[in-house]
Amino acid sequence: MADPAECTIKVMCRFRPLNSSEVTRGDKYIPKFQGEDTVVIAGKPYMFDRVFQSNTTQEQVYNACAQKIVKDVLEGYNGTIFAYGQTSSGKTHTMEGNLHDTDSMGIIPRIVQDIFNYIYSMDENLEFHIKVMSKTNLSVHEDKNRVPYVKGCTERFVCSPDEVMDTIDEGKSNRHVAVTNMNEHSSRSHSIFLINVKQENTQTEQKLSGKLYLVDLAGSEKVSKTGAEGAVLDEAKNINKSLSSLGNVISALAEGTAYIPYRDSKMTRILQDSLGGNCRTTIVICCSPSSYNEAETKSTLMFGQRAK
Ligand code: ADP
Ligand code: MG
Repeated sequence: MADPAECTIKVMCRFRPLNSSEVTRGDKYIPKFQGEDTVVIAGKPYMFDRVFQSNTTQEQVYNACAQKIVKDVLEGYNGTIFAYGQTSSGKTHTMEGNLHDTDSMGIIPRIVQDIFNYIYSMDENLEFHIKVMSKTNLSVHEDKNRVPYVKGCTERFVCSPDEVMDTIDEGKSNRHVAVTNMNEHSSRSHSIFLINVKQENTQTEQKLSGKLYLVDLAGSEKVSKTGAEGAVLDEAKNINKSLSSLGNVISALAEGTAYIPYRDSKMTRILQDSLGGNCRTTIVICCSPSSYNEAETKSTLMFGQRAK
């Protein structure tokens, strides 16, 4: 059993392959890999808990990034897995992938499967209640007691992996995508998926509850590179601010500082009880391997280093 006082933060780094438009443009493949934990960009090494090269499978990423957290959540701990990186770096591929395909499914559907397989394997004395919530284009509000909540989002009890996938598909149906010069699919919003596992032993009446947040963060690219204006620019600045608040919270947790600035952003307030205390946090830093994106890749790697 894990030590309840221990708060672990793991930082993983994943490079996607060059895509066809990068190849057509003649971009160079810039990362050089050393062992299982170091990537070198322009002569500078960056070290993480693990570095995944472009040919790493979804299953390998799941095993290294999520399997342990799922075990902890089933033992009553809270956890969070984030994907961070510029638009088109592979965040959604990593977190969701193809939800309905065994090989290409990402972390979330694999977690859901693992949790249900665990439940099916347990004896009848254990009663489980699984609640999920899924929301894209996250908008956080406060109630009259200043408690933050995610607007337009209800938690729902589920009985099978299929019901969870339906919830995710519904959460996407109101996806907000702003078109920018950087990438027409540039997603300027955070997506959040929560799975809460409550279990009770009907004989001993012992209860356990674990919560796992899975967060696909909005693209981290610099505002200047996107050529955004007006409302889109304001939104981009807000996103950059919430990402830097998240970075501050995670680096304060990593350093073990007494004061953790949760209140600086709505997102960190929502995640507070899963980031602090007896938490398990994994950040997957997603990177493009293209020379065209070198500056953004370096800035993404620096964000990951701060969390270590
Ligand atoms: P993001 O969510 O960061 O904007 P996506 O996950 O949507 O980026 O990835 C952009 C494109 O690259 C998608 O078409 C995705 O399928 C592809 N892609 C991302 N990562 C990988 C990978 N590791 N292997 C193969 N294709 C990938
Ligand atoms: Mg995405």
